[in-house]
Amino acid sequence: MPETVMVVEPHSEYIAQGCPTCHRGIEEGQTIVLCPRCKTAHHENCWFTRGGCGKVGCRGVASKKEQLGRPSAKSGDGPDEIQAVADPRASQLPVPVMIGIGLIVIFIAYLIFVR
Ligand SMILES: [Zn+2]
Ligand SMILES: [Zn+2]
Repeated sequence: MPETVMVVEPHSEYIAQGCPTCHRGIEEGQTIVLCPRCKTAHHENCWFTRGGCGKVGCRGVASKKEQLGRPSAKSGDGPDEIQAVADPRASQLPVPVMIGIGLIVIFIAYLIFVR
C-alpha cells in the first residue's frame, strides 16, 4: 500500500504534531508523508531518507522513490511535485523461490542420472 504524500495546508491538524524522525515541527507549506500503518505525518525527506516510519514500534515502510535521494532542506515547493508512488517491478519471483526451483530441477536430474 503506497503512503500518502501531501502538502500541509494552513490550520492543518498535522502542524501541531511533530515529525517522529527528526523531532521537529511540521509547518504549513511543507510536503509530508503519512505512514500507511499508523497515519503519523513525517517530513517528505525524513520519510524517504529513513525509508519508512520513524515511530517506535511501527513498521511502516516507504515506497521506492529514487528521485528523492538528496536530503535538501528546501520546502514549500508547491503541490505540483506530488506524484503517485507506484512500482510496477513488484511482480518478479523472489530469489529464494528461484533457488528452490533450481534445487528441485537439479535433484530430479540427479535421480534420473543415477537410475
Ligand atoms: Zn522530520
Ligand atoms: Zn508508522
